[in-house]
Amino acid sequence: MLITLHPDADVGRVRKELAGLGQWIEDLSTEGGRRAMLLRPHSAALSLQEVRAIEGVADVFVARSGHPLLDELEGCTVDAGGVPIGDGAEAVLIAGPCSIESETQVDLAARMVAEAGGKLLRGGAYKPRTSPYSFLGHGAEALGWMRRAADAHGLSVITEVLSERDVDTVARHADVLQVGARNMQNYALLRAVGAVAYPVLLKRSMSASLEEWFLAAEHLLNAGASGVVLCERGIVGFDPSTRNLLDLGAVALIAHVHRLPVVVDPSHAVGRRDLIEPLCRAALAAGAHGVMVEAHPDARQALSDGPQALEPAALRRLGWAGRAAVREAVG
Ligand code: PEP
Ligand code: MN
Repeated sequence: MLITLHPDADVGRVRKELAGLGQWIEDLSTEGGRRAMLLRPHSAALSLQEVRAIEGVADVFVARSGHPLLDELEGCTVDAGGVPIGDGAEAVLIAGPCSIESETQVDLAARMVAEAGGKLLRGGAYKPRTSPYSFLGHGAEALGWMRRAADAHGLSVITEVLSERDVDTVARHADVLQVGARNMQNYALLRAVGAVAYPVLLKRSMSASLEEWFLAAEHLLNAGASGVVLCERGIVGFDPSTRNLLDLGAVALIAHVHRLPVVVDPSHAVGRRDLIEPLCRAALAAGAHGVMVEAHPDARQALSDGPQALEPAALRRLGWAGRAAVREAVG
């Protein structure tokens, strides 16, 4: 929002009032000496009337957003395979293994997710791995195993699309398409994923600003996606002790100021199972509309990301903890 001031306005007082209303202000100098101020987008929500009521304010201009389609999701829920995610909906538990390893493994995983109160089964058939020698996923065959397991246990399916080439195959088996952190700015992939008109879970790249993340979501919606759920999964920090830095400040901002659907993946943020439950509670208390966690029926044998995968009892506890955290968070 841009505001201009009357020539005789008490600039200091206007600035103080705006700061008191939670605004981040940038002073602008305009030609002709007229004072103007820019209210940065991450400021607290404020109506035009509230700004106009401040003594000394002459005009208020609302800058055009670079992501009008994403802005339309403000205060809305996204239909994620029959599960609403977003403002006002019950917090959702999305869980499952890092990768789909076998028909038996994914069926046991689906059972444990359903028993813990989860609504969506996650799991990768195409895995983005740092090393080409790591397990890269079973591909299309794994999608069939996953679909059958989810159907047998009343769950919806969310799985990652790694390449434009695989969009149709994944869409035939999944309810929600996932775009991974490493592909957040792969615009050709975003457009191909958007074009099949599915809901998309868009992970934040480990080095993306919120605006870059929002613009990636806009690409999906502009290409035809039926909705976007943002997923925070940790960004680059400076301290390796907690692997990535789980940015819960961004989550609170997205949930409470932008009011967009957002979930948190603590598994890829910290990479260790003992911190998943406290981080899920923190995420829900910060306003996240759900959590996505890795869980495995036999985590110690997992072909990828075993150290961060929850085993059945821990996942059941988490289902309970999530509900308790929501109750605490809403008072
Ligand atoms: C995943 O969720 O399977 C995954 C690979 O996560 P990320 O893209 O956040 O690294
Ligand atoms: Mn993983």
